[in-house]
Amino acid sequence: MSESSLEDATKRHAWLSASINADRVHYYIEDSPEIADAEYDAKMHELEDLEAKYPSLKTPDSPTETVGITPQSSFAAVQHPSKMYSLNDVFRIEDVDDFCNSFSDDTDFLVEAKIDGLAINLVYEHGILTAASTRGDGITGEDITENAFTIENIPVVLNTQNPPQFLEVRGEVYISKENFKHLNEQVELENEVLIEAGKKAKPLFANPRNAAAGSIRQKDAKVTASRHLSFIAHGIGVLTMQNAVDAPKKQSDVYDLFGAWQIPLSPYVKIAKSADEVKAVIDELGNTRDNLLFEIDGVAIKVNSFALQAEIGETSRVPKWALAYKYPPEEVYTKLLDIRVQVGRTGKITPFAVMEPKTVAGSNVAKATLHNGQEIKRKGILIGDIVVLRKAGDVIPEVVSYVPKKREEMLADAAVLREFTMPTVCPSCGAELVREKADDADIRCPASDTCPAQLVERLKYIASRNVLDIEEMGEEAVIALTSSGVLTTEADLFDLTPESLRNITTLRTRDGKRIPFFYNDIDKDGVSSMSKNAETMLREIQKATNADYYRKVAALCIRNVGIQTARVLAARFKSVTALQNATIEELSVVPNVGPNIAKNITSHFKSPHTLEIIEKWTRAGVFEIVNASDESGESEAGSTSETKVNESINSKTFVVTGKLQRFTREEIENLIFEHGGHAASSVSKKTYAVIVGENAGSKADKAAQLGVKMLSEDEFSALLSGETES
Ligand SMILES: [Zn+2]
Repeated sequence: MSESSLEDATKRHAWLSASINADRVHYYIEDSPEIADAEYDAKMHELEDLEAKYPSLKTPDSPTETVGITPQSSFAAVQHPSKMYSLNDVFRIEDVDDFCNSFSDDTDFLVEAKIDGLAINLVYEHGILTAASTRGDGITGEDITENAFTIENIPVVLNTQNPPQFLEVRGEVYISKENFKHLNEQVELENEVLIEAGKKAKPLFANPRNAAAGSIRQKDAKVTASRHLSFIAHGIGVLTMQNAVDAPKKQSDVYDLFGAWQIPLSPYVKIAKSADEVKAVIDELGNTRDNLLFEIDGVAIKVNSFALQAEIGETSRVPKWALAYKYPPEEVYTKLLDIRVQVGRTGKITPFAVMEPKTVAGSNVAKATLHNGQEIKRKGILIGDIVVLRKAGDVIPEVVSYVPKKREEMLADAAVLREFTMPTVCPSCGAELVREKADDADIRCPASDTCPAQLVERLKYIASRNVLDIEEMGEEAVIALTSSGVLTTEADLFDLTPESLRNITTLRTRDGKRIPFFYNDIDKDGVSSMSKNAETMLREIQKATNADYYRKVAALCIRNVGIQTARVLAARFKSVTALQNATIEELSVVPNVGPNIAKNITSHFKSPHTLEIIEKWTRAGVFEIVNASDESGESEAGSTSETKVNESINSKTFVVTGKLQRFTREEIENLIFEHGGHAASSVSKKTYAVIVGENAGSKADKAAQLGVKMLSEDEFSALLSGETES
């Protein structure tokens, strides 16, 4: 080892130690993390690697040797009867293999969901809760006894006639996802008042763990009580049983005792006998974590036998008989570079965040919607802030809050932070933006016929899979079609020809050459043929003239009429003419519609732009020509007194689940709509019946729970045929 490398390592070690200690202050004392978990863990790992390479750097006060920080707060310091360890975190599944395989084959592991909260210690003397404290540095914590009494699921007296003389329960204080949401909504409401009074908005809680930590460390126990915290136990310190023979031999025995004493436990605890079984639990929990009522950040794996635990021992910081596998982070910190606005297909102006790209929950994220101007104000976010970016599972990414500590630092550095203001004119067409009602959260570009951005969004929507499903008509193609002036309205969509595509001057780069968007490179005869993509697109456009009628209704892009509502409308009003002639009263009674959407629909059909679309699309064969006598018939057929209405289905809500044999999902839902019913996606008390196919999952369970009727496909068919007899 060269001297200079030791010197470098010493410098790096000092920097990492100082930085980690600072993070710990923010994390444990101020309840506001400066950096995301993954970054903190990366620093810890680098420090450990350095110390492995240069053992002389490993001093007793190194962060690798200590847990958390010694409390310096106004809470009284208490010494724990026995040391509280933290767990060694790993992020790679290989590390789980290595850990499990380092023990003999007959070793049992206790595997449990690791709830993301704040570690605390509860002391019971003769079965009565006498003290509670935070972990602190593992030796000394803060006295939070009074606050712990406000946590409803912590028993004040153990449920036993024969309590242990002395017991330390280790566990986690946490807040459920739902209560966390309420808490931040509360802060947002308070912020509305503050903003109105010209004061600064308060930062939101970055995540449930911070909210739990902040709530348990309240000077006023009433505030703690109002936060509705919960507790789960995950370990034990000192335990003195009245009769030593009763002492548990395994971690799982402890949980059995806790269960009997009514100390809350993790709802997910399993015994695994091999690395593979441990990994199966990790997978299973990883797949369901988004559906849990609380936040988990990983899985704790512990050697079950106490004798074996004692044999394996601890380092000064962590037990060597346990491991925490951490899932990829669902939230990261990133810089908010800008806030821009997007114009939607119905003119709605939506601000969105442009951020430094970061990987979160496994995908790279650089943009996230901010919904509307008020939301940005309520969250108090400024352009230039470091923000908490969150993406849980399949949920769309969300900017949760800004990071107050980072803002202070940036202000100290005279960095430029600026407030976002909603534009007053459309960024695409320059029209003055309007708010339809004074209390509307949304502002809109009213120039629906002429606004280029709205046209692009409408065409993208029309071509999308759920609507007319036009292959090869993605965003780029749509922009080429519109920016060249070849398509100035969707009315002309079905009139596109190979010749009209030739007029498109937009170029695309292929093999380093710039060529017309829908054409191939000029061949040796000097001819440029249409590209395969363009051929497909034109063919798909023609095919779309035969699409299901309800998809064509959706393609009209009526505001607040999505694909589901389009289905209901199509089922009631069998032709576009019938729909056009429907009155507000007739439309209002349709499920999903109501008076406001009914008004949108009637005014949509009055616009010359819509009339032009209907005229040209009818000529192209999209809509059928209905002659005058049929027209009145159609219109009548649309009313609720129509013969097809089936009283067993009419106005009732159905949910379809599982794999069906006879129908596709779409077919059965269309049948429900056609007979006056409503197809919903989730089961509630309002559900009339659940139609259950093969491998029906949680929806069938929920139906059973709520006592909702369940029907097989055959039983549903019987309901349908009942209508033909009547
Ligand atoms: Zn516009």
